[in-house]
Amino acid sequence: MTEPLLKIERLSVGFRTDGGELKAVDDLSLTVYEGETVCIVGESGSGKSVTSQSILKLLGRNGIIQQGEIRYKGHNLLGTSEQELRRMRGKDISMIAQEPMTALNPVFTIGNQLLEAIKLHSKRRRREAREYAVELLRRVGIPRPESIMNDYPHALSGGMRQRVVIAMAIASKPPLLIADEPTTALDVTVQAQILQLLKKLQKDSGTSILLITHDLGVVAEMADRVVVMYAGQIVEQADVDALFNRPLHPYTQGLMKAMPTIHTQTDEGEDRLISIPGNVPMLNHLPQGCRFHPRCPYSQPICRQAEPPLAAGNDKHLVRCWLTIPTETIQQAAGGIAI
Ligand code: SF4
Repeated sequence: MTEPLLKIERLSVGFRTDGGELKAVDDLSLTVYEGETVCIVGESGSGKSVTSQSILKLLGRNGIIQQGEIRYKGHNLLGTSEQELRRMRGKDISMIAQEPMTALNPVFTIGNQLLEAIKLHSKRRRREAREYAVELLRRVGIPRPESIMNDYPHALSGGMRQRVVIAMAIASKPPLLIADEPTTALDVTVQAQILQLLKKLQKDSGTSILLITHDLGVVAEMADRVVVMYAGQIVEQADVDALFNRPLHPYTQGLMKAMPTIHTQTDEGEDRLISIPGNVPMLNHLPQGCRFHPRCPYSQPICRQAEPPLAAGNDKHLVRCWLTIPTETIQQAAGGIAI
């Protein structure tokens, strides 16, 4: 297999708070190869957005990379100067934010902002840049692109705004797109259109996508490989087919059961949505042992005392659960703990 485009190794990220340093991402490793889509899925507070923000060092003043490496085309991003990273943002790696209004400036026209994004990384003259901006808007499915160039963001619908953000993100044809919940703020039909658009752009240009989502429906639609996160750790990682055909971690199984289907109705015809009981633990109150044990229906004594390792099963399917580890290995790890 070729070198990965993006390689994250043993990354831990913390935040300074009044109560001390909290670890939001713990010992995370993942790779993204050229042309593939890797989805990171998990509930709020699982560390998926912090992982994506670490790549371009967008953690804010309180964020600290505690350990690990992030390599893009073999280049160490964590050792890269702020000036060099600014040059890479948009050109090599682009981000699509969850809420398009935060990515667009309300006081500038769409045209102004798109031209700015184009001119940042290319030497096109104004007229050429304008033609390219119109072409980009057309490519992301915006009708009447010439007149939209003169509109302000508030005049567009949420779906149209997100299309503009995508147009800005692909303006410099970056090899890697990071999309953090790009469809969360949109209604279901627009969501489907945006996902189709991302797929088409990827097919046309071979862009790799790191997609952050809490929605397994989006994962099923988009992913080649899936990373499931819980309370700052990877709990399962597999190819999309392997994950959906045979989810191994009780948390992934719970997420799958919580997916609404046309059969999730009571006899009276009312919707019956299944949820995983409990909440993701607070980072300053992580439970001892397996972090999922207070919510896990299969919890054993060892789960409450020792943290399971992320271990490989078949077909590079990684899972962090004592249930999937051979008994002899557990006995060695457990020492005197009852299993
Ligand atoms: Fe559940 Fe134990 Fe597996 Fe954790 S290690 S997911 S508590 S069975």
